[in-house]
Amino acid sequence: MRYFIAILLISQCPQTGGAGLPKIPKLSDLVNPFQQYKLRDILGSLTALETPDIASDAVQPLPEHEYTDRLSSISDLNRAKRDLLFQGDIHLSFEHLSNIVREQLDHPREKRTAFRNSQYPSTIWKPHVPFELHSSLSAAARSSMLAAMAFWQKNTCVSFKKRTNEAVYLLMSGQEDGCWSTVGRDVSQKAQILNIGKGCEMFGITSHELAHALGLFHEQSRYDRNSYVDIVKARIAPKNFYDFAVVGMKNMDTYGEKYDIGSVMHYRPTEFSTDGGNTIIAKDTNMQNTMGQFRGPTFLDVAKINRHYECESLCKNKIRCANGGYQNPRNCNVCVCPTGYGGKDCSGLETSNPSTCTGILNAGDIQRKFTINIKPKTNVNGVRKCIYQIQAPPGKRIVIIVDSVIGNCVQGCYEEGVELKLYTDKTVTGARFCCKLKQPQTLISQGSTVSIMLVAGKAQAFVQLRYSTVDLPQNRSPTEKNVTHGSVNPLLLEKYQDDSVDSEAIRKEYLIKLESVNQEDFEALVRKEFSVENS
Ligand SMILES: [Zn+2]
Repeated sequence: MRYFIAILLISQCPQTGGAGLPKIPKLSDLVNPFQQYKLRDILGSLTALETPDIASDAVQPLPEHEYTDRLSSISDLNRAKRDLLFQGDIHLSFEHLSNIVREQLDHPREKRTAFRNSQYPSTIWKPHVPFELHSSLSAAARSSMLAAMAFWQKNTCVSFKKRTNEAVYLLMSGQEDGCWSTVGRDVSQKAQILNIGKGCEMFGITSHELAHALGLFHEQSRYDRNSYVDIVKARIAPKNFYDFAVVGMKNMDTYGEKYDIGSVMHYRPTEFSTDGGNTIIAKDTNMQNTMGQFRGPTFLDVAKINRHYECESLCKNKIRCANGGYQNPRNCNVCVCPTGYGGKDCSGLETSNPSTCTGILNAGDIQRKFTINIKPKTNVNGVRKCIYQIQAPPGKRIVIIVDSVIGNCVQGCYEEGVELKLYTDKTVTGARFCCKLKQPQTLISQGSTVSIMLVAGKAQAFVQLRYSTVDLPQNRSPTEKNVTHGSVNPLLLEKYQDDSVDSEAIRKEYLIKLESVNQEDFEALVRKEFSVENS
């Protein structure tokens, strides 16, 4: 909070209104598309060649869900400037593009999402990011940029300071349409433009553009993305293949962090679609609605910036953190914990809001039903979030059947919805559900714990599920296919809609044996699920 206030104070200083700043060049002055076309064609062709074809039955004619997104994607907001930008919103210099293409031609496919090429560390901002807020920024864009700077400053060791006489600085401008930035610090630009035009004012976008300026590329351009998502080439115009290019290890460093479909740097599933259908399909279909969120940076987005800026070196003492957490560079005595986890060393649960909506659920052989309901409320302070964890005895895995969800059906499920962390690695964003389910979803954990987070703003969020243990070897990937359960009793939702915001009492009430479910059917379902995996 201290940093936020510091930034606010800066913003209170008399505005220069851009007076004394150089005239801002237009994006069309900075990028000559004719100079880049040839390289883009090469990169587009390489991308088409190296992106596996997917089975035609995977290409559904329309999106699976009827999304109610009110907001355009970044690449849609930038539609008029697509010819000037890389991957929808990146201002890429000819030299930088050349490096990426050259690397692709050399075919390196090794471990290495942050921008770390041979010019590193001149591509990062140290000891701080000098910035100017240009008078062309709207009031909304300005306050959102301040919030984005406050976020990155609070959660990483990166600092922002109003520019004094630095030659290279970040110039936040609203002079043009669209939301775009350069990746990393570019000494050749001097006044490096980060543009926040009309429609780009939400925090999910300003924090995304600022993450580009700090050094992150898009998540789906990681070298290993073909292991996590399929690209539907049939829905992408050939001239946009270039926007789906993978950036090689010499130009991007993932710092050993896992691919995060829920990253604020990940494309939406319908990005650059010619017909509105999905252009990106998650290999783990449970993760499809996790993709393309606008809430803000995830645990791993923040972790990557901390690694990129070598923030861990600021802590002289070393502490241990559980569940993939790491030492907080702003307070070396505590850990930064993955979503859902908390406590000094991340071995506990994240604090919920209200504080009563949390707990540990013990899974056993007998299937249990569990409901969480966050009722609509007008005067909400911040985000309401219920945090539970299902635990199975060591060596056992957990089967969860999600029967019903009420949420706000948007790509990325970043408003009202539920998230389940099924993988043993708790650093990655989990499977999210926010749209009305056409059928119950059967999920199987990788290890012996599953975190469940139900999130809501003012509107209602609801989830009803059943869980039990299953005696199967661990560490296989969670289910790759959703299975329809034939004998699920329809739920009487009305019964639950009158529940008060979750409390211990509600938890106990619904933590019951579900006798009406035929146990044989259930076991058959689990066997079927695993025969698919084992074959
Ligand atoms: Zn972007």
